[in-house]
Amino acid sequence: MYGRLQTLLLPLLLACTLSAGAADVPPIRVEARAAIADAAIPSGPVLTHTLALTVANIAAWPEAEITAAVHETARILAQCGIRIARADLVTVAAPDAHRYFDTPRSRELARVLALPKPTLYFTAGTRQTPAFDAEAIGRGNSRTRPELADTVWIARGARDLGIVVAHELAHVLMDSGAHDHSPGNLMAESTTPQNTQLSNAQCARIRATGTRNSLLHSGVN
Ligand SMILES: [Zn+2]
Repeated sequence: MYGRLQTLLLPLLLACTLSAGAADVPPIRVEARAAIADAAIPSGPVLTHTLALTVANIAAWPEAEITAAVHETARILAQCGIRIARADLVTVAAPDAHRYFDTPRSRELARVLALPKPTLYFTAGTRQTPAFDAEAIGRGNSRTRPELADTVWIARGARDLGIVVAHELAHVLMDSGAHDHSPGNLMAESTTPQNTQLSNAQCARIRATGTRNSLLHSGVN
């Protein structure tokens, strides 16, 4: 009898769990789309490549903070001849748990949204251990989590936001987690406002790997 009762109850319990879940959890969806205005690029660098960025605001960040970070990133990448040709800001509604960087939930979020890449996600924080201010996922470290390839996840409260975004995006474009401790280099392990330089070799790798992975395009139009 016990066995039979369990057989009968299980489908009912499953059905209740599924319907309760569907009713209580708000869906992951795009609420608004807007273009981030062009950054003022300092005169001097010859721009040879373009980058189209998608910026997902998944935790109600102030838009001005995101815009300032994207503009600083544009100024830093210009030294490699890269122009951010467009940056689309996508405002996302998601359940609270999905607003944090947390591999299984972030994979689900990225899969549902299917945003163009590279994508910068501005999150409420991180649930990862160790907890970094920001993480970059390229091709080389995404084999077990393919939805996260070519994405950057930035935690609320990250210091030197524009530098952090440029640093993580450079990891993605180079498809490399390497750090460089030359004075002033952007790819120092700890970001500081003084660390904004990329070497010629780093720029060459960004352009070559970024183009090969279809994240950059040659030509500036
Ligand atoms: Zn790094």
